[in-house]
Amino acid sequence: MCGIVGYIGHREAYPLIIKGLKRLEYRGYDSAGVVLYDGTDLKLSKTKGKVSDLEERAVKEISLNGSIGIGHTRWATHGVPNDVNSHPHLSNSGNLVIVHNGIIENYEPLKKELIKRGYVFKSDTDTEVLINLIEDVQKKDNLKLGKAVQVALNQVVGAYAICVFDKQKPDEIVVARLGSPLAIGLGKDEFFIASDASPFIEYTSNAIYLEDEEMAIVRLNKPMKVRKIKDDSLVDPYVQELQMNLEQIEKGGYDHFMMKEIYEQPNVIRDTYRGRLHANEGIVRMAGVEDNIEKFTNAQRILIIACGTSWHAGLVAEYIFEEFARIPVEVEYASEFRYRNPIISDKDVVIAISQSGETADTLAAIKLAKEKGAFVFGVCNVVGSSISRESHAGAYTHAGPEIGVASTKAFTTQITVLTMIALRLAKIKGTLSNSEYHRYLLELETIPEKVKEALETNEISKQIASVYKDAPNCLYLGRGYNFPVALEGALKLKEISYIHAEGYPAAEMKHGPIALIDEQMPVVVIAPKQGHYDKVVSNIQEIKSRSGKIIAVVTKGDEQVRALADHVIEIPETSDALSPLLTTIPLQLLSYHIAVMRGCNVDQPRNLAKSVTVE
Ligand code: GLU
Repeated sequence: MCGIVGYIGHREAYPLIIKGLKRLEYRGYDSAGVVLYDGTDLKLSKTKGKVSDLEERAVKEISLNGSIGIGHTRWATHGVPNDVNSHPHLSNSGNLVIVHNGIIENYEPLKKELIKRGYVFKSDTDTEVLINLIEDVQKKDNLKLGKAVQVALNQVVGAYAICVFDKQKPDEIVVARLGSPLAIGLGKDEFFIASDASPFIEYTSNAIYLEDEEMAIVRLNKPMKVRKIKDDSLVDPYVQELQMNLEQIEKGGYDHFMMKEIYEQPNVIRDTYRGRLHANEGIVRMAGVEDNIEKFTNAQRILIIACGTSWHAGLVAEYIFEEFARIPVEVEYASEFRYRNPIISDKDVVIAISQSGETADTLAAIKLAKEKGAFVFGVCNVVGSSISRESHAGAYTHAGPEIGVASTKAFTTQITVLTMIALRLAKIKGTLSNSEYHRYLLELETIPEKVKEALETNEISKQIASVYKDAPNCLYLGRGYNFPVALEGALKLKEISYIHAEGYPAAEMKHGPIALIDEQMPVVVIAPKQGHYDKVVSNIQEIKSRSGKIIAVVTKGDEQVRALADHVIEIPETSDALSPLLTTIPLQLLSYHIAVMRGCNVDQPRNLAKSVTVE
């Protein structure tokens, strides 16, 4: 789950690589490294820690010249995060060097074999095995680097995006991908290689995204060739025009990306429905849905597959699809789904949700669902991502780059897309009355303004955060549409503040978690006026009777809960089904402020990475 940057051309490679790695730190940040070729030799510097630690070290350790280089920011899978396990890794001869994102699953037998053949290993990584395998293959048959990489990769089981460089042939970089993303930016007499396009966005707007099982050799002053790793056949790659701009990937005055992204929600929700929702005309349309409308309307079941926050968005969608379109829905963790023998047929529609579109488990689950004949619809944020390409059809969320590791705007825009699909199906199937249908369209159109209003709870959320910042535990309760919001609120707090938190359906409290409640326990209760309000009020009474501290998210003007709760956060009124788009906002703010007050690294919480491209 690391970030890779490579460059070959006429510029100084080092500053470009460092800047690029910083943009990719969302993918992992437990160690970092760079190797440059200065015209005579390789200059390698690597360290445990962040890219900023690498900068401090590299300037003392190596000369920073050279217009060819590769860099890496790591999220360790094999071997603890330390200097030695950091990438790049050299081969035994010192000629070859690699950066790698992914896992070589059969690294153990390969390593044993290489040890027998005299190879020595310094690190515990699977990556060092791969580079020595490439060297062994190269030496045995006196192969060119590209061919050696290809032969070696055909012996490997697992996932990879790699850049390999040979100092004896210093005018080319060999790249390959299987399961982990890799983009190649095409400049004038220069190439940029990276895990996504953000490192090279200011240099070129043309990029090729390698497909699985493809490799390429990028050479100075030569056209690039893309080949299939398996059979060596040439591929005609699709050159994509990039859509992101530099401003979008910078912090824009906020202290953290997470806060910037929370505040972007009114705009990005609008971007998500722009051109798709025409409330006054009673129209909601998305090309990917329209082109496959019969698949959806004939679906016996919708299966939603996702991980983490996207899974929570899927749970909200379960309630919405069943209510609006009357289609049975199941929501699955991709990692569980892929390893059982799920019953799927061609009457199922599978909706795969992933912000990055690279989530390894979701990608594998899609492949499985396709094999079993299901129609797969992807809901992703990153344009051109693996899941978007692997799905039969899909809809982008258009949230713009999400850099903060804790997902915020991805969640609300995913719910927006899924709500629009459900409304479209409801219209065709006649499962909502005309007036309900129109009311929802109009209501959805007002959501950005209401999110803006919900963001005005920032100050009160901050005050509440200061009261509970040292709590060791926290409970989140909600019912119906807001049960998944309770799960998401708890996840946000866990992720960035490291406070243990649990989300529960409010009524389930009696079956266990109520035992945890005492005067120390903050309980966040999501209690908007619509929905199961009276039931939730009873749950609040139960918490109060046991002296729990109640933080209630309520509809503006709610006096009943105000009289019971220790703190209230008021959000604008909306329909029950759309309320998650508003109730989630103060929970994002609350976890953000608690994490900041606890001195946590909000954008890069420990042990996590933004894009989970390993299973
Ligand atoms: N398996 C490699 C390592 O542990 C790469 C890790 C990754 O891509 O997350 O160093």
